[in-house]
Amino acid sequence: MPLRRLRLVERAAPIRYATASAIFLAALALRLVLLPVDQRAGFFTFYPAVVLVFYLCDTGPGLWVLILSAATGLYIFYPPYWSWTLTPTSALVALSFVVSSLVIALVMRSWQSDNRRLGEALARVELSDARWRAMVNDQSDVVLRFDDQGRVLFANDTAQRLFGEAAQPGHPGIWRQRVHPDDLPGVLERLACLSPARPSVRFDCRVLDVDGEVHWIDFVDHAFHDPAQRLLEVQSVGRDVSELTEARQVLEGVVREQHAMLHSDLLGIIKVRKRETVWANPAFERMFGYAPGELLGKSSRILYPDAASYLALGREAYQVLQSGGTYRAQARMVKKSGETMWVDISGTMLAAERDESLWMMLDITALKAREQRIEAMAYHDTLTGLPNRALLLQLLERELAARRRLDNELAVCFIDLDKFKPINDAHGHDAGDHVLEVVAERLQESVRGNDIVARLGGDEFVVVLTHLPDAMVVRDTLQRLLERLRAPIALADGAVVCVSASIGIAVCPRDAQSTRELLRCADQAMYEAKGAGRDQLHFYAQAA
Ligand code: GH3
Ligand code: MG
Repeated sequence: MPLRRLRLVERAAPIRYATASAIFLAALALRLVLLPVDQRAGFFTFYPAVVLVFYLCDTGPGLWVLILSAATGLYIFYPPYWSWTLTPTSALVALSFVVSSLVIALVMRSWQSDNRRLGEALARVELSDARWRAMVNDQSDVVLRFDDQGRVLFANDTAQRLFGEAAQPGHPGIWRQRVHPDDLPGVLERLACLSPARPSVRFDCRVLDVDGEVHWIDFVDHAFHDPAQRLLEVQSVGRDVSELTEARQVLEGVVREQHAMLHSDLLGIIKVRKRETVWANPAFERMFGYAPGELLGKSSRILYPDAASYLALGREAYQVLQSGGTYRAQARMVKKSGETMWVDISGTMLAAERDESLWMMLDITALKAREQRIEAMAYHDTLTGLPNRALLLQLLERELAARRRLDNELAVCFIDLDKFKPINDAHGHDAGDHVLEVVAERLQESVRGNDIVARLGGDEFVVVLTHLPDAMVVRDTLQRLLERLRAPIALADGAVVCVSASIGIAVCPRDAQSTRELLRCADQAMYEAKGAGRDQLHFYAQAA
């Protein structure tokens, strides 16, 4: 057991004094056993005892044993033995014992204190080393140190896990084997830059682990040189940034897509905060005829034809946006020049707390015009522009619904031109078309604005007289109409023709109440009129 372990300096004073006393007694006994009393050398065994007590029990017990030893030595071992009588010789010997013991004790204390400081410093170094090792080994970064030949000097746990055997100390050129072949030239180029003037470099590269899996590592390599500027070591610290790199690549893709989308030539995109423009893409500025940046800071009100439509769209859209939805609509908007256009508009809230939203707009004016043309073609007669059968059925349906609410009458009048075919035969189809156009005009001129005039096809027309006070009004109106139709029509070939018409009338609700029934009754009445000699009116009720 090392003597250091026996040291009692930390123990309580009674223990230290008791131990000191025991050592003193042991030294006394030893002296008495080894030599006779009158053999001088009275302090012979007390020297080691005093030194030992100073060492083991500290200063207090040391001095205590020193005094005890000096007194005992004088009393027992110097003439006149077993007596307190002092002689000059014995006093000198005792004094030299005390002085030399004190010197030894002082030297020992100083040595002990140096030793203690050294021990503490060593413990601090060991702790710091343990801390450093734990820090280096426990962290998720790769830490490697290489000598000037590229041999591994140190590899932390992460490096050993990643590279396996190749990270064992002494293994040469580990990084060359592990760096992805495509990245190796770049890495070598970066490492060649290391010098005393530029001791560290940073680079990203792909590294293959023990299983051959690729990791993106962000390395910082630091070179250490001796005073003669010779390379001693290179320390390489690398962080696995595979997930980060992957996320960055995805993000870059998204940013590229977003950039392409935002700078699209077709789609106008505008960002507004509290309905004030904070950003608009070039397509938007072009679409609305504004110079680059001209819209910034301006209210989006200027994009709407009037305040009412601006407020209405805002109310409707922000309700949807605030509930997390996307607002989509077609709206009429206005260019800087004042020209209006149709826009397909779609808005999304970006940050509700800042009232910031993104709007995408597509100019659909041409599309809308085509749509309107197609709709007009689907519901209108191409020759006369009058509503066709499909639209007539819709309009009549609407009128019947209104009639039921207002409780008044309406008359459906089926009109077929008399002997129209011979005009075609005699003057050609174009002349016949012209006659049909003139008839259409005359029919429209003979009725009120809210009445309906439609062409079913051929020389068949339908007039719906709405909101009738009584049947007499029907008769008078249609008589006037017949008269107007009889007026001569000048043809392109210089000829003049006259047409007449046979009209069958069905009155709602008296004759029928549904669209199809009313048309059937009126058609039947028209045939009655034809049969009765043409150029006249015939009420369905009369015909029945
Ligand atoms: P009716 O008095 O019995 O009605 O004799 P109609 O000659 O008028 O003969 P009908 O009503 O049966 O035939 C209508 C004719 O109108 C048949 C066709 O030659 C002609 N027609 C049909 N559609 C058009 C058209 O779009 N343009 C022209 N020019 N003629 C048409
Ligand atoms: Mg006819």
